[in-house]
Amino acid sequence: MEALLINKHEILKRYKPVSVQAHKGTQGHALIIGGSYGKIGSIILASKASLKSGCGLVTALIPKCGYTSIQTSFPEAMVITDKEEAYISEIEFEIIPNAIAIGMGIGQHETTQKAFIKFLKNNNKPLLIDADGINILSKNKELFDFVSEQTILTPHRKELQRLIGDWSSEEEMIEKAARLTESKKWIIVIKGAPTQIISGNAIYTNSTGNQALATAGSGDTLSGIIAGLLAQGYTPEDAAILGVYIHGLTADIGSKSLGYQAFIASDIIENLGKAFL
Ligand code: AMP
Ligand code: MG
Repeated sequence: MEALLINKHEILKRYKPVSVQAHKGTQGHALIIGGSYGKIGSIILASKASLKSGCGLVTALIPKCGYTSIQTSFPEAMVITDKEEAYISEIEFEIIPNAIAIGMGIGQHETTQKAFIKFLKNNNKPLLIDADGINILSKNKELFDFVSEQTILTPHRKELQRLIGDWSSEEEMIEKAARLTESKKWIIVIKGAPTQIISGNAIYTNSTGNQALATAGSGDTLSGIIAGLLAQGYTPEDAAILGVYIHGLTADIGSKSLGYQAFIASDIIENLGKAFL
């Protein structure tokens, strides 16, 4: 397997500037699906991170209980609410998104699991699966065949363990993840310090980020950033690589003034502008 470092050089090869002719309809529409009672913040963070990564439109699909909080804290978002108050019970929408991220804060209510499975079987859009989306998938490995090639999965170590089973060394972990990536043609983002991305026959190691990212909602913003890039037409591999780098860079920039303790997920979003610049 080819080992590559994600550094500024690698990023500038992949980065696409925004056209002067751009309007919101050309910049892509991201659909962010997830949230449950007590975890609506995950979707607010992910949706906001998406839009702050340059896509033109973002729609959040959430349970009803999140409606007021997202519309108030993030007025730029469009919102579709489920008929259920506390969890997602069906994943249906009339919009035509360019990319979808699903799983953040979604929980594992039985009805949510069924809706998620049905969604997987029907989806044909570029897709990122995170958090409980990954966990539901891990519990139903027969679903692997319904997850299309080039889907991005963003597990942290615990989620990865559920997905591929135990390992006894870092080498074995990478080997097992690589085998799955190879057979399904997915892109697996192994979150950690550092984050590594397995795509095709290469493993990319990120060079940005620090312990300031060890904070609630950090992974939700990463999902949003990558989905925002996917919606803009970046290939899944480029979106994952660029997203992980930019996410880490927000912490490198933000922790200079906030330190490692006071930096929180909202500061990832706050520093996206400087990171892109
Ligand atoms: P999650 O656990 O889903 O919230 O994701 C945490 C995010 O923060 C991932 O992108 C991790 O790579 C990142 N992260 C957490 N701790 C560190 C650390 N000590 N150094 C670098 N990145 C980290
Ligand atoms: Mg997470």
